[in-house]
Amino acid sequence: MSTTAVSLSMPVVPRRRRSPEEVAAAAPVTGEKRVLLAAPRGYCAGVDRAVIAVEKALEHHGAPVYVRKQIVHNVHVVTSLEAQGVIFVEENEEVPEGALVVFSAHGVSPAVVQSAADRGLRTIDATCPLVTKVHKEAVRFSKENKHILLIGHEGHEEVEGTYGEAPESTTIVNNPEEARTVQVQDPENLIWLSQTTLSVDEAMEIVEILRARFPKLQDPPSDDICYATTNRQGAIKEIAPQADLVIVVGSANSSNSVRLVEVALEYGAKASYRVDFAHEIDETWFEGVASVGVSSGASVPEVLVQEVLLLLADYGYASVEEVVTAKEDILFSLPKELRATMKAAGDPDYKGVRSSNLL
Ligand code: SF4
Repeated sequence: MSTTAVSLSMPVVPRRRRSPEEVAAAAPVTGEKRVLLAAPRGYCAGVDRAVIAVEKALEHHGAPVYVRKQIVHNVHVVTSLEAQGVIFVEENEEVPEGALVVFSAHGVSPAVVQSAADRGLRTIDATCPLVTKVHKEAVRFSKENKHILLIGHEGHEEVEGTYGEAPESTTIVNNPEEARTVQVQDPENLIWLSQTTLSVDEAMEIVEILRARFPKLQDPPSDDICYATTNRQGAIKEIAPQADLVIVVGSANSSNSVRLVEVALEYGAKASYRVDFAHEIDETWFEGVASVGVSSGASVPEVLVQEVLLLLADYGYASVEEVVTAKEDILFSLPKELRATMKAAGDPDYKGVRSSNLL
């Protein structure tokens, strides 16, 4: 008997979503169903600026525009820009000599700037100005012969960039455990800096552990955890104690989005999940749930939150109360290389654009 090869791969069958009635039958809800929508949420000024920078680079220079690393950590933003002609690369070596490359919002080390120059690349630096501030502090403290304890997640692009400003003068402290064991040469001459998107509470816990061990530890002149991170965590802290479930929209590699889930659980949410898209929400999460908190990370376009609200409405969570804990009106000017190009081309947006097309 002859045999024929058969493919073992099966077509992907979409999961049948359980109906609102089926969910209600599984676990009835007591109390009014409602949504507590965090504000501020979503795009921060640094993300908006970086995405606009790529959009404007495409408009003025044409595709392809190369971007080193993800311009911001969000799947939707990255795939949307790819569809418009952006090529994301991991390193400058993947960019053809002489081409245009945009550095992401998370910042780059001097070695990366140098490697771009060595390849004759034209560059637009979309590093968030609040990350640049931390870089400048690292350079300054290193010149003052201080040793820097950089609180942040090793391997994150922002930490790589800041560390790269003064590697001989910097030690990365990832977590409270490392704060308890880190060894330094001169405990009299220490200062701490941090990643901009940490949990405010955990960063302070780490600082206190370090200070207990090294009483002369100096503080930076101002907070490194940025206003957007602080404000989004502030709104979640307000909502979490009242929420049976908190849904955070954001990507897995988005530090500030992941922190929002942790903060929600820490501040009393009974459950909390992160999703990139509304379709990832599992309706069994709604069983027995009256109040749902919703927020989004600093790299998340609002359209993705609105899709979550539509799905929630389908399951009876149509009443939405926005919980406002801070107002934001920060606007950063575009990268200077881009402003010069835009001005020369008569593009009035060089003076400042309020929000990207992807919002
Ligand atoms: S989260 Fe903060 S540091 Fe990061 S891009 Fe936004 S404003 Fe800048």
